[in-house]
Amino acid sequence: MNQAADFFAKRITARDLATIRVPEGWTAPWVELEERLEKFCAEIKSALAHGEIDEADEAASTRAFIDRLARAKLLDLVVPPQWGGPGYGASSGVSATAICLARQWMGRVSGALDTAFVMQGLGSYPVVLAGSPELRDSLMPKVRSGEQICAFAITEPEAGSDVSGMQTRAEAVEGGVRLYGQKTFISNAGLATSYSIFAREAEDGPDGRPRISAFWMPGDVEGLRVEPIEVIAPHPIGTLELDGVFIPDAHRLGAPGQGLKIALSNLDQFRATVGAAALGMADRALEVTLAHLSSRVQFGKPLAKQQGLRFALAELATEHTAAQLLVYRAAAARDRGDATPDQPAMGKLHATETAQRVIDRAVQSLGGLGVTKGQVPERLYREVRALRIYEGTSEIQKLVIARALFGARR
Ligand SMILES: Cc1cc2nc3c(=O)[nH]c(=O)nc-3n(C[C@H](O)[C@H](O)[C@H](O)COP(=O)(O)OP(=O)(O)OC[C@H]3O[C@@H](n4cnc5c(N)ncnc54)[C@H](O)[C@@H]3O)c2cc1C
Repeated sequence: MNQAADFFAKRITARDLATIRVPEGWTAPWVELEERLEKFCAEIKSALAHGEIDEADEAASTRAFIDRLARAKLLDLVVPPQWGGPGYGASSGVSATAICLARQWMGRVSGALDTAFVMQGLGSYPVVLAGSPELRDSLMPKVRSGEQICAFAITEPEAGSDVSGMQTRAEAVEGGVRLYGQKTFISNAGLATSYSIFAREAEDGPDGRPRISAFWMPGDVEGLRVEPIEVIAPHPIGTLELDGVFIPDAHRLGAPGQGLKIALSNLDQFRATVGAAALGMADRALEVTLAHLSSRVQFGKPLAKQQGLRFALAELATEHTAAQLLVYRAAAARDRGDATPDQPAMGKLHATETAQRVIDRAVQSLGGLGVTKGQVPERLYREVRALRIYEGTSEIQKLVIARALFGARR
């Protein structure tokens, strides 16, 4: 690897996290974690290269990723200390910084690996936030061991960016509720054994506004049907049809009407980490681009000698480094417990938009090879796209940032 490419492949922590204030007394053993991630990601890269894991089989590869993540004790990162996770002193019990480091490393190797990892957290954290002690004690050890595969189901055909418009109904029955409606674009749909799911109570609140509630639902319930959706990069995803699925009272998460608050707290925990996955994809793209431009000779000299190309890379490298600082600033603030909503929004917005540009430049830099199936830039080009859409589109991140600038009511 040439010197410039090495710059992007270096450890993230030592160079950049030193610039970010960490909580008092935080031991932050990031180097140990990064060494484990580096070794794990090298093993996955080799397993993919040798066909031991085939991402085209989304269900089998997700299970394989989760098994390997569990064996490497990396699922511990999404589990609070009460159930054996490291916590790293983070105020929420789950360190956003640690999850960012993991996602950045995994994003360099495989978008599907990154999804398998993060869904264990995104799908189970609502239970940590608001589940009964019995539910948490029975679920969380199985999330950690990979015995449970998790999903988070909020989006509906008519309620995407505006989740408050959801129509899925929770109708009160003896001992619980029955769910009727549809959830769509649900990662791990059909594969998951554990869903955090959201629905509106049949009765609106006294103020006439819908009361959205949260529930835990096992994957094998009667009345649940799953329709797979195919997206542009490997990603198990689908639509859930809910036809009277029974949820007992014991599986409610929080009180009736608290669902939106739980969902938003969950997204607050994970939003900056989407930016970290984008950073990892951009790291890989830069590495491939720099190596190619350094070795490819046209007009009698390496392409890397063309000033136009050098300047383009210099600009992207600057943007990429700025994105990294924004992401880890947001994660550190989250771990300290003093994050403001604009911080993860800026991190996600800037890192995902920059990664898209970096990857587009990688495709362009490789010329025809860039669009050839099986080449790294071609894969990254498909993998990175959804990151600007899920967990709040780029436009929604701008709404959040603008609200911080102008105040909520202006
Ligand atoms: C790969 C993938 C995985 C996903 N995984 C999950 C999951 O696990 N669980 C889950 O619940 N959901 C999941 N989603 C759904 C995702 O969160 C939604 O797709 C996303 O929130 C956008 O909703 P929408 O698709 O309905 O688009 P819409 O809300 O219809 O938006 C369409 C466009 O309009 C823009 N827009 C909307 N409102 C405004 C506004 N006020 N101002 C300016 N622009 C606006 C949006 O930014 C977007 O560009 C996933 C989606 C994808 C693609």
